[in-house]
Amino acid sequence: MENIREVLKELMSKRQLDTKFQDLMTPVYEDADVLKFCEEHKNELSTDGVARSASKLYEYVQERDKYNRNEPTLMPGYQPILIVNNHMIEVSYQPSKKLLANEKQRAFNMRVKAVNMPKMIRRARFDDFFPDQDRQTALTAALNFIQAYEKDPHQFHKGLYLTGSFGVGKTYLLGAIANELATQGYESTLVHFPSFAVEMKNAIGENNLAEKLNLVKKAPILMLDDVGADAMSSWVRDEVLGVILEYRMQNELPTFFSSNFSMTQLETEHLQINQRGESEPLKAKRLMERIKFLATEVTMVGVNRRQK
Ligand code: ADP
Ligand code: MG
Repeated sequence: MENIREVLKELMSKRQLDTKFQDLMTPVYEDADVLKFCEEHKNELSTDGVARSASKLYEYVQERDKYNRNEPTLMPGYQPILIVNNHMIEVSYQPSKKLLANEKQRAFNMRVKAVNMPKMIRRARFDDFFPDQDRQTALTAALNFIQAYEKDPHQFHKGLYLTGSFGVGKTYLLGAIANELATQGYESTLVHFPSFAVEMKNAIGENNLAEKLNLVKKAPILMLDDVGADAMSSWVRDEVLGVILEYRMQNELPTFFSSNFSMTQLETEHLQINQRGESEPLKAKRLMERIKFLATEVTMVGVNRRQK
């Protein structure tokens, strides 16, 4: 193909096109991007390639301008580009950077499944983690878990049982672990245990109870937040917590806990007493054995961050 401008000029006159078509196509054939593309690909195009691609070139210019002006396009989120296909010109739609970034963010968000958790866990990052002496042990334990898990996700890795007073950052740390794992493609499920227990109780008699419980029970990585924050009925203890722990122990699935109670306190002050005030030490001991199998106790100390 010779000089592309010549070809286009000829095209417009030779065809004796009606003026309406001419009006539509003149800006297209004078468009800088179109000219550049035709010039760069002239050896790949057939002699009548440009002429027969008029509608494609028109579509390209229209859609590109709308895309640049942020107006609704034929393919929202996709950027039009010109390509050569079989010696003809065609418009192809490429996902825009923004769309790719959104998709990446969506995939990331999907990997952190949060059930009744505070919104702030989405923001929790190790980069922002207070690097004070107080939290160092917990931070090191968390990073060790992540390193070991990422090295061999199929091996059993003990999770953490984070204990410490209100506001030291237990929930925040669980969020930071989940987000870090998500950047590497691993999925975690964070559950605010007291709210989940209420949800389970409300689901008694409905047919989706088992399904809801299964999702939590079988999560690749599970984090039970605030265990012991509310009084637990025997039913919740045995049919919800007990069932989850049993399954995770049998299947060696990484499990984390956070609690204002230490392991000892949880066993003797919380799990042991049923709602009628009776003591059930054996049941409590059995549950605690499972928790200990699944997680290592780490005490978090420090000031209450909520007051700042
Ligand atoms: P806990 O679960 O131990 O009661 P939280 O994790 O809810 O404590 O933390 C209390 C508050 O402090 C939250 O608002 C949280 O966003 C903030 N916070 C806790 N730890 C950190 C941290 N390491 N870096 C930044 N903010 C934190
Ligand atoms: Mg918390």
